Amino acid sequence: MQPYWKSSLADAEALAKTATKAEVFMLGQSAGGRNIYMFFYGKKNELGRTANLSSALGARNPAFYADKDAEDYRPTVFLAGGIHGAEFEGSMAVLNFIKIMETGTDFAGMPHTDLQAAAAQVNLMLVPFCNPDGRARVPFESMAGKSLKDLRYYDQGTWKENGALCGWPDCKAAHPIKGAADFLGGYFNDDGINLMHDNSFLPMAEETKILYRLTEEYAPDFTVLLHGGDNCEANYFLKPAYAPLCVKKTIMEFEERFEAECTPMSLS
Ligand SMILES: [Zn+2]
Repeated sequence: MQPYWKSSLADAEALAKTATKAEVFMLGQSAGGRNIYMFFYGKKNELGRTANLSSALGARNPAFYADKDAEDYRPTVFLAGGIHGAEFEGSMAVLNFIKIMETGTDFAGMPHTDLQAAAAQVNLMLVPFCNPDGRARVPFESMAGKSLKDLRYYDQGTWKENGALCGWPDCKAAHPIKGAADFLGGYFNDDGINLMHDNSFLPMAEETKILYRLTEEYAPDFTVLLHGGDNCEANYFLKPAYAPLCVKKTIMEFEERFEAECTPMSLS
């Protein structure tokens, strides 16, 4: 294992105890009673809120929800890792980012001065594990060297009916999946809820509510929900349905490059 590769819940707990530059928030607990942390760097914006988003948009001015034109306004970046338990890459990246913000180097001792300089200009909301229950169910630090079948087993689990792999995307046929699953994969919290597909308007899981509360409170300018599980060296960005046009254009350019270089086999 490379020395920078940290991807466990214990790594997040250790950083929560030792971080001195972050404001560390224990946001609440998962269905299985595991802590969900956010590490915040920067200075929280005064948003001058007088209305919720729907009402502000109804008034044709989102500034009633979040006024982002003040001179001292700091753009807010929200990185959410570990939504799916067997997809470690995002959590590893967020944990290293926290380490860099705390000490100036990643877990391998390498400095990242450009990243630190960029980060100093924004607010950072860093959540290493949105779904700690799912992470706790996967007994590895990395999927390196494992097969696609291993990934399918530990991420999506198996059906109770016949013991077959739930697979992707068929694992989404039951939600919550708990009663239908034999081995509950890392996709799900301990109640069998895939947070990615929780009800948008009537969230079932406390973990989803925590994420909604965060975005409501901070109104981040840029949010990335980090997954993993691709088998290509190039990163892959799923098309975001609701992102601003400028972001969609950047991702389309990236996808053109990606498709020219690599064919993904195992999106999750
Ligand atoms: Zn995923």
